[in-house]
Amino acid sequence: MSFLEVRDLHASIEGKEILTGLNLTIDRGQVHALMGPNGSGKSTFANVLLGHPKYNVTSGDILVKGQSILDLSTDERARKGIFLGFQYPIEIAGVGYSHFLRNAYNTLNKTLAQEQTNREVFITVKEFHEYVKRNLDSVGLDQAFLSRYLNEGFSGGEKKRSEVMQMLVLKPNVAILDEPDSGLDIDAVKAVAEAINKLIETGAGVVVITHYARILRYLTRLDHVNVMAKGRIVKSGDRSLSEELENKGYGWLGLEES
Ligand code: ADP
Ligand code: MG
Repeated sequence: MSFLEVRDLHASIEGKEILTGLNLTIDRGQVHALMGPNGSGKSTFANVLLGHPKYNVTSGDILVKGQSILDLSTDERARKGIFLGFQYPIEIAGVGYSHFLRNAYNTLNKTLAQEQTNREVFITVKEFHEYVKRNLDSVGLDQAFLSRYLNEGFSGGEKKRSEVMQMLVLKPNVAILDEPDSGLDIDAVKAVAEAINKLIETGAGVVVITHYARILRYLTRLDHVNVMAKGRIVKSGDRSLSEELENKGYGWLGLEES
């Protein structure tokens, strides 16, 4: 049984159907790329997976270890170890970064410690900070971020690094990263990709939503490249498919309205 299974998922927003029969299975340890033209529904999928209240699932199902999660709230889904790295991370003034991470980590330990053998228990705040600092280092963020508010005043690139850093700390079962490479300079793309490699080493299943083969080239593992169009996956392949898309665009796939 796969960890996460999306079955013939249809979802709409304000009466407009965006997801039109999406099928995808993700296992721990697997790495997927999700590509596709603007507006094909990639971010919608990520939001629906985590139960964003604006979207209506009209048919199909999302299963975690064989059980539907459609009736679960966003935080209940997160407690199953599903993490979404946002395309546009929002700034939350007043929520201390370190406090937020420690609460989230301890909350996840309550549900995930039984199934994940690599979760440590940190007794003191100092111990936890040492752990976070190691992860800040690995994405190239200064330790001063620990004493800031969540995303407040972070540059675009810092927000993206911060999303991946949170995943390294929290160790989800499945992580969806929505365009972790957008708006980053070339060195930062490499740094983020290397952080994703560390995330892969934790045993997480990873879905990287991206427009570009570049970030995928740095990944030590890439099992499936899926192309989405008009709300469903229309083509799947291996690494070579992402290179083909980089060279030829999407036109050759015949995705235009027939
Ligand atoms: P992608 O991430 O692949 O670029 P999105 O999932 O963001 O695509 O968007 C898919 C489609 O859903 C687009 O046509 C977009 O305009 C539409 N959409 C997304 N959010 C809303 C919303 N809040 N209201 C109406 N339409 C929306
Ligand atoms: Mg998007």
